[in-house]
Amino acid sequence: MEYHDSEKAKDVAGRVEAFMDEVVIPREREALRTGEQITNDEIEDLWEQAKDRDLFAPQVPEEYGGQGLDFSDMLPSFEQVGRSLIGALSIRANAPQEGNMHTLEMVGTDEQKEEWLRPLVQGEISSAFSMTEPMQGGGSDPKMLQTTAVKDGDEWVINGHKWWTSDGLDADFYLVMARTDLDAHPYEGTSIILVPRDADGVNVVRNIDHMGDHGPVERAGGHAEIKYDNVRVPVENTIGEEGQGFQIAQMRLGGGRLTHCMRYSGMAQRSLEIAKAYLSEREGFGSALEDKQALRHRIADAETRLHAARTMVRHAARELDRGDARIEVAMAKMYTANITNETIDLAVQCCGGNGIGKDLPLAHFYENVRAFRIVDGADEVHRRSIARWAFDDVDEAEVEDALRFDEDLRIDALDE
Ligand SMILES: Cc1cc2nc3c(=O)[nH]c(=O)nc-3n(C[C@H](O)[C@H](O)[C@H](O)COP(=O)(O)OP(=O)(O)OC[C@H]3O[C@@H](n4cnc5c(N)ncnc54)[C@H](O)[C@@H]3O)c2cc1C
Repeated sequence: MEYHDSEKAKDVAGRVEAFMDEVVIPREREALRTGEQITNDEIEDLWEQAKDRDLFAPQVPEEYGGQGLDFSDMLPSFEQVGRSLIGALSIRANAPQEGNMHTLEMVGTDEQKEEWLRPLVQGEISSAFSMTEPMQGGGSDPKMLQTTAVKDGDEWVINGHKWWTSDGLDADFYLVMARTDLDAHPYEGTSIILVPRDADGVNVVRNIDHMGDHGPVERAGGHAEIKYDNVRVPVENTIGEEGQGFQIAQMRLGGGRLTHCMRYSGMAQRSLEIAKAYLSEREGFGSALEDKQALRHRIADAETRLHAARTMVRHAARELDRGDARIEVAMAKMYTANITNETIDLAVQCCGGNGIGKDLPLAHFYENVRAFRIVDGADEVHRRSIARWAFDDVDEAEVEDALRFDEDLRIDALDE
């Protein structure tokens, strides 16, 4: 499909595709075949290769060691890295690191960028975003946030309980969402505060075991449950303006939702490629499986939906570049999460037993993609926003106009 991406976007995505096909996917295949994990040293070697090809950290400005692509230009590359379980990691564009880099780059001070962003981009340190809380704290409804940060002199004193902090096990710092003004509405009284892992009172309780994994890699940041008990950090560790935590999180999530959409679209696309290859090779009931109309129609539907999702994501990205795109992003995220789940499920089905086996990446993809209907806003939360927008649009004059019946027709209909 031709999406008329910019020449720059096409050039970089083409080179990312070549890197995936020549280096990353063969390494992933080997690891799945042998069951041996890809070591941290090997990942660092992939980073060096990505640097040699000018592909490393495409989302980060050049002055901090990335490629400095603008949002629309980098999106197609995210689709290419999504085709491999280790694709995003191999060019340092994996979540949540990518979103945390973006946050620091957007609103961090020069000092914060030097101290935290520069080594983060280079992979010398790792980070995590700590927002979700156990019951009855912030989850789908982030206004329920319970974690607090209270000023004591020139320090914040942070208390709270978080879980599902991705990469929280090996993070060197956390971006913690905390209420900093309990008298204000949470949207106005919440801040993001950078907490170094080695600060007193940071207690990583456990890794939350879960469905899906990061692929066959040694590096595993996990999803951590963390308690922050009287953690003291300097007030200068506030990320962006005090009280602007929700606005900053929205800025982080807007783009992050679309990069996630592209990674999962790439995963769904590779699943379809594997399924089509299998169907063309495998025979049953007197012909190749690819000739069975029941399967052909389902593949046709999957290709159509995937194309629709990609188009929606690009539209949302263009709107985001221009300013506010909350509804476009919600629609693209909810739709892409569902169709990538359906597409990967279909690919598993088409490959029979080998869809379930772990020689192919499909079983990993299948486990991995399920979370996408929950993270970055569950389906229902996005539907809620979209519905609110849809009904807000209806005014009284429109109701009257839309419900104006032709009286003659109504009488005729009744007479009959
Ligand atoms: C793999 C993974 C990685 C994650 N990484 C991070 C991370 O790095 N940092 C972080 O802070 N959090 C992270 N999370 C947490 C994630 O953001 C939350 O799970 C998500 O926001 C949903 O919140 P919750 O789990 O509290 O669900 P709840 O708020 O308890 O909701 C449960 C379910 O109820 C339904 N629901 C909710 N609201 C409505 C409604 N209004 N109408 C109808 N139905 C509704 C939805 O189906 C939802 O899934 C991660 C989660 C996973 C699974």
